[in-house]
Amino acid sequence: MTVKSIHKAANDLLEQFGSDQLPVRIEDVARFKGINVVPFPLENDVSGILVIEPGGATIGYNQEESRVRRRFTVAHELGHFMLHNTQNDRKVFVDNTFKVSNEFKVLFRSKHGQEEPTTARMEFEANTFAAAILMPEKYVFQLINEIEFDLGDEAAVKELSRRFDVSSTAMYYRLLNLR
Ligand SMILES: [Zn+2]
Repeated sequence: MTVKSIHKAANDLLEQFGSDQLPVRIEDVARFKGINVVPFPLENDVSGILVIEPGGATIGYNQEESRVRRRFTVAHELGHFMLHNTQNDRKVFVDNTFKVSNEFKVLFRSKHGQEEPTTARMEFEANTFAAAILMPEKYVFQLINEIEFDLGDEAAVKELSRRFDVSSTAMYYRLLNLR
């Protein structure tokens, strides 16, 4: 799966959701896809889970984590749902706090025993989707044009991260990747 196709999946979903509002209401976007989104009493090192069952899907997020962190977790799990839900099997994704640095746990079952994309690749794809849907490219460029922007300007990055309701780190990487 190419980065371009992941961006397209995120943009298409936002378009179907049909809101121009910032920050993106990521929980509502997930619910729009029929996914239950609920706080979970998760263990400390677990940020989120995605459970896919024939009857429906549920995203659980760690309620102890900061709001921007929870938003990214929901977007990341939504990415798994949109990109890696190719068979109608029961699937469980478990993501720990360090998923961004690719240290994660993923439980993955396929009853057909087919070869699956490597978990590292899937984590990268879910993170790419999360960044694309929380910080849509067109709004990033729109806002950059509105403010005097320089990537070295911490205050400007912070202001952008506030508008998208993401962490400064997530914002910074998104800006780097969009260069
Ligand atoms: Zn994941």
